[in-house]
Amino acid sequence: MSDQISSIIDSHCHIVFSNFEDDREKVADRWRAAGVTALLHACVEPSEIPAIKSIADQFEEMRYSVGVHPLDVHHWKPETKSVLEKAALDDRRVVAIGELGLDLFKAKNLSDQLSILLPQLNLAFELNLPVIVHCRDAAKEMLEVFSKLSRDGCCPRGVMHCWSGNAKQMRAFLDLGFYISFSGNVTFKNAIDIHECATEVPSTRFLVETDSPFLSPVPHRGKRNEPSFVKHVVEKISELRGESFSEIAEKSTQNARELFALP
Ligand SMILES: [Zn+2]
Repeated sequence: MSDQISSIIDSHCHIVFSNFEDDREKVADRWRAAGVTALLHACVEPSEIPAIKSIADQFEEMRYSVGVHPLDVHHWKPETKSVLEKAALDDRRVVAIGELGLDLFKAKNLSDQLSILLPQLNLAFELNLPVIVHCRDAAKEMLEVFSKLSRDGCCPRGVMHCWSGNAKQMRAFLDLGFYISFSGNVTFKNAIDIHECATEVPSTRFLVETDSPFLSPVPHRGKRNEPSFVKHVVEKISELRGESFSEIAEKSTQNARELFALP
């Protein structure tokens, strides 16, 4: 790898989705050209796992997680915890459990969401794997869950993916040991709280991601997002923190490698 291009890790993407079906190879050419040297593919429910696995076979820089998203509670079955456990133990490229969490923006079924969240957090702790946390309009509830686990000595490590909270909430998750991952929404002009968080977050505790195909950063807003666009997230954070592009790329890469077993 040349020293000219900074190495960047896209710590959260979903290129298994059908809108990448026709051009995944070209998408990979572009992320390689942009300096993306490793990617973490997130999983929203177990039936995706074989397809994600074959994407990891195709692209050697790909690692993945296994888990059930809070908006996919209907995919949770009595055997799901053991399905996830087996998938995680079967393949060394599974580096996290998730994405899991709470979403009270699009749904109000908090107790259902909690009922699939807790077994996944236990599994992650048992397997000593970090978690990828989706948390939307639910910081208070999520903090309650983690605080209790932390008091009981069984809270997994992890990342708050696609961070969209405020600085006060961020500090609470940092205090519990979580990393903060910034996505395309940090590039949005009016995202004042997220800008504040990206400025304040300790240099050892942030990651970058695209959440492809969602949330395209400026200047691609409204279009399909793809891993190469993670460079715009790095660019924006470097502008906010007054640090160089390569410093932000390097720090976020180091942090992602520290949290997940990534190449
Ligand atoms: Zn996601």
